[in-house]
Amino acid sequence: MSRVALVTGGSRGIGAAISTALKAQGCQVAATYAGNDEKAAAFTAETGIKTYKWNVADYDACKDGVAQIEADLGPVDILVNNAGITRDAPFHKMTPEQWHECIDTNLNGVFNMTHNVWGGMRERKFGRIVTISSINGQKGQFAQANYAATKAGDIGFTKSLAQEGARAGITVNIVAPGYINTEMMSTIPEKVMNEVILPQIPVGRLGEAEEIARAVAFLASDDAGFITGSTLSANGGQYMA
Ligand code: NDP
Repeated sequence: MSRVALVTGGSRGIGAAISTALKAQGCQVAATYAGNDEKAAAFTAETGIKTYKWNVADYDACKDGVAQIEADLGPVDILVNNAGITRDAPFHKMTPEQWHECIDTNLNGVFNMTHNVWGGMRERKFGRIVTISSINGQKGQFAQANYAATKAGDIGFTKSLAQEGARAGITVNIVAPGYINTEMMSTIPEKVMNEVILPQIPVGRLGEAEEIARAVAFLASDDAGFITGSTLSANGGQYMA
C-alpha cells in the first residue's frame, strides 16, 4: 500500500534525505519548508517531490497546509517532525527571542503539526509519527539551553503520545541524531572538527543524513508496528542513552 508521508523541513539537510528515503520506500511524499524557495525548487526538480511552504510555529498555517496536502495526496499516514532550528548562546547572554524562537519551531511546531494529523490517524486506526530530536536533548549542551529544552521536550511529548496512540494503531517515536554531515557542519573549522568533535565520536566520523533517513524510514514503515515510545539514538556511540 502506498502511504502518504509529510516531512517538515523536508527540502534540505536531513529532511531531504528522509523525504527521499520515504519515496524510495514507496510513499507519496510532501516536503515542507519555511522560506528557502530556491532550495525547495531545486529539490523538487531533482526528486519530483512536491514542496509546501509554511511556518510550523503557526498553528493555523499547519492546519491549512495539512488540508492542502491531504487534498493533493490523500490522508497523511506518516508525519516526520524534522523542521528545527538552533539559536545558540550561553545562558547569561541568551535573549528571550532566542529562547522563544527555538520553542516556537522545535516544540510548538511539533505540537502544531501532530495535532493536525492526529484526529485523522485515530479515525483510520493507522499512523506513524517520527520526531527528530537530538543527542543534545538527551545530554544537554553548552550554549544550547533553549535547543536542548525543546529536544528533550520532544522526547517527553513522544512518550506520552505513544501511550495515547497505541490502541489506535499509531506509533510515535524519536530519532536522536548526533553530529551529522550537513551544511551546518561545513562551517566548523577543520582544527575544531579534528581535535574537538571527532575524538568524542567512537566510530570516528560524522553521521550521514542518509543514515538518519534510513532509521526514520524503518520506524515509519508498516513493519515497525510494535515499536512505539522509543528513542533511537543515531550518534556513532557518542552518547548511549
Ligand atoms: P537544516 O537547517 O539543514 O534544515 C532545516 C529544515 O527545516 C529546512 O527545510 C527549513 O526550511 C525547515 N525549517 C526551519 N524552520 C522552520 C519553520 N519554522 N517552519 C517550517 N520549516 C522550517 O537542518 P538539519 O537538516 O541540520 O536538521 C534537521 C533536524 O535534525 C532538526 O530538527 C535538527 O534540530 C535535527 N538535528 C540535526 C543535527 C545535525 O547535525 N545537523 C544533529 C541533531 C539533530 P528552509 O529551507 O526554508 O529554511
